[in-house]
Amino acid sequence: MKKTAVVRTLGCRLNSADTALIQARLESIGCTVLPDDAVSFDLAVLNTCAVTAEAVRKSRQELRKLKKLCPSAVIAVAGCAVEAAGETFRQEGADLILTNPDKRDLAKILSGHPALNRASGDMTGNFRESAEAVFPFRSRAFVKVQEGCNNFCTYCIVPYVRGRERSRKFDEVVSECRRLVGAGFPELVLTGVNTCAYSDEGRNLGDLVRTVAALPGDFRIRLSSTEPHINNRSILDVMAETPKVCRFLHLSLQHGSDRILRAMNRHYLAGEYADFVAEARAKIPDIHLGSDVIAGFPGETDEDFSVCADFVRRMAFANLHVFVYSPRPGTPAAVMPDRPAAEVAERRAAGLRRIGQRSRQEFIRSQIGKELPVIFETVSNGVVRGWSDNYIQLTVPADSARTGAIVRIIGDEKNLGTQNV
Ligand code: SF4
Repeated sequence: MKKTAVVRTLGCRLNSADTALIQARLESIGCTVLPDDAVSFDLAVLNTCAVTAEAVRKSRQELRKLKKLCPSAVIAVAGCAVEAAGETFRQEGADLILTNPDKRDLAKILSGHPALNRASGDMTGNFRESAEAVFPFRSRAFVKVQEGCNNFCTYCIVPYVRGRERSRKFDEVVSECRRLVGAGFPELVLTGVNTCAYSDEGRNLGDLVRTVAALPGDFRIRLSSTEPHINNRSILDVMAETPKVCRFLHLSLQHGSDRILRAMNRHYLAGEYADFVAEARAKIPDIHLGSDVIAGFPGETDEDFSVCADFVRRMAFANLHVFVYSPRPGTPAAVMPDRPAAEVAERRAAGLRRIGQRSRQEFIRSQIGKELPVIFETVSNGVVRGWSDNYIQLTVPADSARTGAIVRIIGDEKNLGTQNV
């Protein structure tokens, strides 16, 4: 009888891309992949996240939930939290621990070694993704182009758990994109830990985007997980001259004070970041600029926080994720002195979130009267929801727009939901 499986995902878009590949690999060994809220299954794969201590806690909580939900199932735990705390997951009842490199060989591992627990694997060189991905909606396909990171921000565990930067072969990515467009996906999301670090035999992300955009078909390309750096500016020209590229960039800021940016080992100062943002807005009108920021980093004074809050306000992000700093064991920041008290960090984070909410509302309102290319993807209760290229959610009556294709809609109070923001 065919085995059934579910895959639950926590964390970033890169994890969502990995999940699509895991699902495909499960299908390749004869498993039926059920929706992730299924309550009975033979195998569960939990794709975890370790970006904060809270993310690891949630990953462990999810493991406990899965065990309670379906005690007879085999549970495999994968993802960044495994690299950081694999033994803990095993002690809490995981049957199988999969490192990031193991995910590539999932089919072989599940067929041949049901209780594998290997701590390391190949984390260098090009990487290959040979499976076809499976996606929850037919509207968006994630294409992983890059892995790993060389930046070693002092708070971050990613370079230790995902290894150094490496990229997929250019031709392999292009042919996967061609296949996905041919299969009818109207949006391709290029993902990586830092997609801007893409490099294969002298060809960079701009070359890749231009080549993919030249494929025939009515589709669009979204870039996910981009790090601001002076060397990345050329991507703005590619975006400006290539209409198939969504007007969207998520540029992690992390802090607005130069003193803290240096302590974080970020590779830019606030002024350089602001220049990048100004250039992006000048070249790509109505671009959605999103960001991440950390409150309560070790050594953050009231003065640093107020510089950061002012900077975040000036940047007017369309979307802001605020994290309270949590130490990741093994990273340099974990042993840095003068960490603000938890209540101070929480208060600062709440202040940043309020700023982020205001600027998000302003961005959404600024789109009233503009023509937005939208892909509608989910239908429920007589309405259909979708996303514009500049990443605003729109809602219209279900009989007024088709799903799974790019349609043009004029933004108004109602479809943008401005009355609710
Ligand atoms: S750029 Fe910094 S925060 Fe981002 S993955 Fe690399 S080390 Fe982590």
